[in-house]
Amino acid sequence: MIRWRSSCSLLTSCLARRHAPVALHSSSAQAAIVRGKTTTAGTSISSTIDFSDTKTSFQNKSTYELWRAFVLFKLFKYEKLVDKSEKLLGLLKSIVGDRLFTKVMKATIFGHFVAGETGEEVNSTLTRLESQGILPILAYSAEDDVTESETKSTSERDAATERACDNNLKNAIDCLNVVADASQYPFSATKITGLGHTSLLLLLSEVLVGSEKVFSLLADKPDMLEGVVTSDSFLRGTEKMKLGFKENEVEKLWKTLKTNYDNKLNFFEWNDAFLTDGSDFYEVLAKHSPHELNLPLMSEEEKDQMKSVMRRMESLADVAQERGVRLMIDAEHTYYQPAIRHITVHRLMPKYNMQYPLLYNTQQCYLRSSFNDLLRDIAASEHYGYRFAIKTVRGAYVTLEKALALKKGYPDPIWGKKSETDSSYHRILNHVLERVGEGKASIMVATHNEATVHFALKKVNELGLNKTDSSVVFGQQYGMSDNLTCTLGSSGLMAYKYTPYGPVGEVLPYLIRRANENKGMLDGAVRERSLISRELKRRLMRKN
Ligand SMILES: Cc1cc2nc3c(=O)[nH]c(=O)nc-3n(C[C@H](O)[C@H](O)[C@H](O)COP(=O)(O)OP(=O)(O)OC[C@H]3O[C@@H](n4cnc5c(N)ncnc54)[C@H](O)[C@@H]3O)c2cc1C
Repeated sequence: MIRWRSSCSLLTSCLARRHAPVALHSSSAQAAIVRGKTTTAGTSISSTIDFSDTKTSFQNKSTYELWRAFVLFKLFKYEKLVDKSEKLLGLLKSIVGDRLFTKVMKATIFGHFVAGETGEEVNSTLTRLESQGILPILAYSAEDDVTESETKSTSERDAATERACDNNLKNAIDCLNVVADASQYPFSATKITGLGHTSLLLLLSEVLVGSEKVFSLLADKPDMLEGVVTSDSFLRGTEKMKLGFKENEVEKLWKTLKTNYDNKLNFFEWNDAFLTDGSDFYEVLAKHSPHELNLPLMSEEEKDQMKSVMRRMESLADVAQERGVRLMIDAEHTYYQPAIRHITVHRLMPKYNMQYPLLYNTQQCYLRSSFNDLLRDIAASEHYGYRFAIKTVRGAYVTLEKALALKKGYPDPIWGKKSETDSSYHRILNHVLERVGEGKASIMVATHNEATVHFALKKVNELGLNKTDSSVVFGQQYGMSDNLTCTLGSSGLMAYKYTPYGPVGEVLPYLIRRANENKGMLDGAVRERSLISRELKRRLMRKN
């Protein structure tokens, strides 16, 4: 039997939510995070939901807003225009001046894709969204630039970057407070590259890749999850590495390993010791390794900077926990991902996801390695005993990643065809949703692809999951695919909008950067344009 919660009762409950107490403390914070319970006898969901009902989808959009969206999506079709948008907007600003420029932006591109400049403006946008049953993933998107300028000295650069990161942290915490006050089921999102030197995260990624390489050389099996370092494999591995060690030094090192790890060291224990003062085996071995192994190391100063990144991430997660805001850690370029995954999966989740899914890692399904990455992350959650939570996306940096692989001559990390990315996404959905059915995972299905949403709903139905359960939620970007978010939301599912905010002058560069990185997404908004045009015609003809 299909029992939909009506839009009307949803509206009432949304309004009631708005009067919920502002400060959420521990148990109420947890309640905000965990809605419903995963049951296999849940209310069934129609996997044939109709996402083309434009009247429902655009009920809260004025005709002006629809025209604006139509024109913007038409313009985004022209790649050259997107390429030149930064220059063109700069030119416009120099002609009309700051004040008029801000007004024009708010009436056009900024107004369409951004929730507002201040907490107050954001509040009214979120109220409007919630009246349609749409929940917020709020993100402060005016990051202080943490890419180091070449013109300053190293110490000046480091100090400026640290200041920028601290400022980004402050804004991210404000964002958590804004969304916690505005919504009963709040989400926020953050990018780790905003909270640490990008060059540091790059180095950490390289060191982690080196560390995995050494683990696989020392372990009894090459598979990261199956292999363990034993006394024999350790001796064999250190020989293979041709370390500049004397034999008794190798034995001494193995003794430390043996006493601390009961003769066997698995990959997670190896990772726990990583960057831990005094027991980082990778560091000891890499220092004595020959050049050809090419194993990078971090200086003491870089390790201190790493501690600052962790301190910032933990401060953010502490506030998220206190205010009951689930926090998504966005996935970024492949050269930062080892660091981002290590910080999220091995350092933060064991601390914050023990009782309920506070932090969500992001899985980019366009990566050839994505299914193996997923299995490793699930294994990590089992090893530490925390709640596995993930946001699945296709991936935003396809053009850039492919171009970089070609330029640097390494294998393309992205699937060769779009259809392969689609299959990868669905394979991952299948696997994670089955774990949700077993009560072991939470997922945000983040996509604008209607077929993927249908795929997820069908699986949720097959598994008999409860549709109001916060273990399966859906997400689209603010200003895109309203037909999906509104229909899912008004059908009683937990449907979210990834909603950026911040001052016009600071968010516009972010928008332009994202539009350039992800041209495919805007270019593919054909369905979006056709639905908007149908709704405009309907309004013009005054049809029901
Ligand atoms: C709520 C939300 C949060 C997001 N967070 C992140 C994030 O943290 N990190 C991130 O990277 N992205 C993120 N994205 C963006 C996302 O990765 C996609 O770029 C975007 O959603 C478009 O994919 P789609 O599934 O919506 O739609 P579709 O139009 O079906 O897919 C487009 C995507 O397919 C893939 N693709 C296109 N052409 C090819 C090709 N030739 N070969 C292989 N693959 C191809 C690309 O990933 C492209 O973006 C987020 C999106 C949403 C909605």
